[in-house]
Amino acid sequence: MRLPQKHLIPCFLPIFLFLLAGGVFGQQRAKIRGYITARPDEKTIMIMDDAILFGPGIGFQMQDAPPGKQLTAADLTVATMIEAEGVWTGKHQFTADKIKCDWDQLDKQIREHAYLEREPAQSAELIGGQPCQLRADGEVLVIDENSKREWHGRAQVKAPDAPVWLGRQIRYSGRRRPDGTMTVQSIEIGALPPADAYETPGKRKLVRAQDPKTGIDILEFRKDKKVEGRFKLFPVRDVQEYVSALGTKLIPPAAQNPPMSDIEFRFYVVEDSTANAASLPDGSIMLNTGLLGLIENEAQLAFVLSHETAHVLQAHYWRQENETRTKRVLISIGAAAASAYVGNVAVFLGQLGLAAVANGYARRLENQADRLALENVVEHDYDPGQAIGLLRMMVSRYSDRSTSATWSNHDSSMLRGSFLTVQIGLRYPRQEFKKATVDSDTFRAMRENMGPVKIM
Ligand SMILES: [Zn+2]
Repeated sequence: MRLPQKHLIPCFLPIFLFLLAGGVFGQQRAKIRGYITARPDEKTIMIMDDAILFGPGIGFQMQDAPPGKQLTAADLTVATMIEAEGVWTGKHQFTADKIKCDWDQLDKQIREHAYLEREPAQSAELIGGQPCQLRADGEVLVIDENSKREWHGRAQVKAPDAPVWLGRQIRYSGRRRPDGTMTVQSIEIGALPPADAYETPGKRKLVRAQDPKTGIDILEFRKDKKVEGRFKLFPVRDVQEYVSALGTKLIPPAAQNPPMSDIEFRFYVVEDSTANAASLPDGSIMLNTGLLGLIENEAQLAFVLSHETAHVLQAHYWRQENETRTKRVLISIGAAAASAYVGNVAVFLGQLGLAAVANGYARRLENQADRLALENVVEHDYDPGQAIGLLRMMVSRYSDRSTSATWSNHDSSMLRGSFLTVQIGLRYPRQEFKKATVDSDTFRAMRENMGPVKIM
């Protein structure tokens, strides 16, 4: 997080200049985390718009390194995730005295799994043992004769072009190559998602309803018959219909096959001025008016909806609970007062112990959702670079507010923005997307119908 220094500039210019000159008093130490997006010279790394300068006597530290391995300035290449400690010495300038990096960042060894959202184009070559490039999990997996291949539970091939692996789990391990693709050491395909992966804990349901007194459209968050919370739906029908139609259009093909075909995807715009969105494991996706109000074009909205859809399809709630040690205790809350509405969706879900669905999952899962969202928007002919535009806007708008829960804080704005910058730089070079869709007349019409909304 950045220091509030830039707010002080007008009133405390002399102090600010003193800080710039390298003064020691009043300098608050800060930490920043992100993926290196450029390396302009030997003593500077860039993370998006921020230059991190190596201060005198800078220390490099590698965490979990094997004996004898030490971090050097030369290891800090583009796409490496680092944590820098130091002080902000300008609006976009940070002077670091310590840079830390995990060994696994340099090792480039990757082990991941995902459910296949679309049928890989080279299924036949993969099964036939031939070398191939498999596009899956938002990655390009380079498979050769040395890659160990394994599959089970293969679906019966009914027609020559029927999907073989769609919706099934792919597990892969390999090494990242400098061009961003991956040399696969082992690949295994077959498992279906677990039966309870698409259930909201406590079998809670989000149900459309009407306020009995005022008749306005609302959502009820129900556990059995008890209403735990009520959300106000944004009252303009055209806006709801547009977001729902776009979200539905973007659902990847995996959702057509069991068990994912049981997911009922529903997209709602809820009245909440915080710039956030949340998805419940059962496919209910809530987009706050505060975030919709910030989004500049259809390509950005497509990215946000694709990210939330990926959290659902990839069973991230289930994975967070079962694969990480962050077991959350679900809290039962009392019935909501009939007249009260939830003002902040994220806070409400947090009270229930469902904070991750609104505030972000583990970084690895957020990265997967972002990778798959990029792949999904490209598949629908949108400009993936718009995702960076959205994150960059949110970084500049919210970077000084460490307490605000916003969508870009699904992990941290800078971490996500730099991850996307690296991904797009490697996988989706700008020149290939000159003709891709950025906006549409329907998006502009929706914005007109929406009118001004409060954004916090
Ligand atoms: Zn997320």
